[in-house]
Amino acid sequence: MRNDKNNNSPVMADIQSIDADHHLHPFTNTGALNKKGARVITKGQGVYIWDSEGNKILDGMAGLWCVNMGYGRKELVEAATHQMTELPFYNTFFQTTHSPAAELAKEIASVTPGDLNRIFFANSGSEAIDTIIRMVRHYWAIQGKPYKNILISRENAYHGSTLGGTSLGGMSGMHKQGAPLLPNIERIRQPYWYGEAGDMTEEEFGIACAKALEDKILAVGPDNVAAFVGEPIQGAGGVIVPPANYWAEIQKICTKYDILLAADEVICGFGRTGSWFGSETLGIKPDIISMAKGLSSGYLPIAAVAVGNRIANALIEHDEDFYHGFTYSGHPVAAAVAIANIRLMKQENIVEYVAKDIGPYFQKKLRETLADHPLVGHIEGVGLLVGIALVKDKATKELFPDNVDIGMICRDHCFDNGLIMRAVGSRMVASPPLIISHAEVDELCEKARLCFDLTLKSVS
Ligand code: PMP
Repeated sequence: MRNDKNNNSPVMADIQSIDADHHLHPFTNTGALNKKGARVITKGQGVYIWDSEGNKILDGMAGLWCVNMGYGRKELVEAATHQMTELPFYNTFFQTTHSPAAELAKEIASVTPGDLNRIFFANSGSEAIDTIIRMVRHYWAIQGKPYKNILISRENAYHGSTLGGTSLGGMSGMHKQGAPLLPNIERIRQPYWYGEAGDMTEEEFGIACAKALEDKILAVGPDNVAAFVGEPIQGAGGVIVPPANYWAEIQKICTKYDILLAADEVICGFGRTGSWFGSETLGIKPDIISMAKGLSSGYLPIAAVAVGNRIANALIEHDEDFYHGFTYSGHPVAAAVAIANIRLMKQENIVEYVAKDIGPYFQKKLRETLADHPLVGHIEGVGLLVGIALVKDKATKELFPDNVDIGMICRDHCFDNGLIMRAVGSRMVASPPLIISHAEVDELCEKARLCFDLTLKSVS
């Protein structure tokens, strides 16, 4: 059990002990968790969730970067109920389709940038990434270049936890487990200016990080490289906003060596950065993008890959099945919810709200409230996405020693004081629902300030 107080609540205690007996949690040291008991979350409304002790908590992470339209949206519940009644499942393998899959593909195409108008459905971001890996390799194979199959990604990138996602991602802790990884994946440095640029200006560092791509392409041979894959802004890596010139340089290099550019939009998609897709905010013109999370505001699992003409036409003209897909590709209920979600986003002008109103307000208010805090080394973010570097010494950027898990200390203070922020190493990240109000942003910032103060006290 978590503590004595929790023991007063039999329902909570029951759920905790059932959970400890039977549930293996994702990305969790389950043994350690079982000793204290998992917090039981019982309901959500707007930007808030409640736990079984009745605590109301401001969800600064929108679940897991996904509940973009907030909790308790009746429109999404009704779409699911209606579709459950009409047709709860049918596949799209047997030369068959249904209106949710077809209409959702059209809805997605209405908001994707450029010519990314053909949609392949999956159930999770990881599956979308695996789809990209297989699809770009297959694309080159049908161009007569099966050897053009290396994918290049970045250190500290997160692309999911299937074997494909783990291998493509740059998380060293993940690489050690369940190895060996997939072959023919290469990685280059991440564009983390505050943490890794030394004396370089942002511009110099942007060029240097893009040059790392060119160096890697030349090292393995341009004719062997299928695609470069990157998140417009790294999310789970700690919200790393690249220097302003970075993506334009990357784009030039991909064009120069005829390498496909894939944007992993699982976090950045669906308004998070103030455009429908992060690629628009960051000025990227990808050949293919993955999306999940905000596609259905997390109400049901669904993901997609949007494919531009170059790859789509090759697949369509090639007279052979593409042997890839999932039982639940384009699941009618999940698709119906995603359609309702996109329509709701359009009706409420939510992307414009993030771009012009709440995004700039959030970024400004965070800096006003936290920039001068002794623990805060740097704040970076766009729209409703932010990463905050916690440091021991602001002037030298010195980090806390390894035995002081400053991020976890801060995260626990947040949870105990009614705020969810996530710790990524020594960085604190936030990604609240897009429907957050000005007053709720104020509350988020005030709570964060209080929790940063408590964190400082804990380590002083
Ligand atoms: N790509 C990115 C950029 C992600 O952030 C995530 C999940 N956080 C994934 C892929 C994997 O998505 P999922 O957990 O739905 O498999």
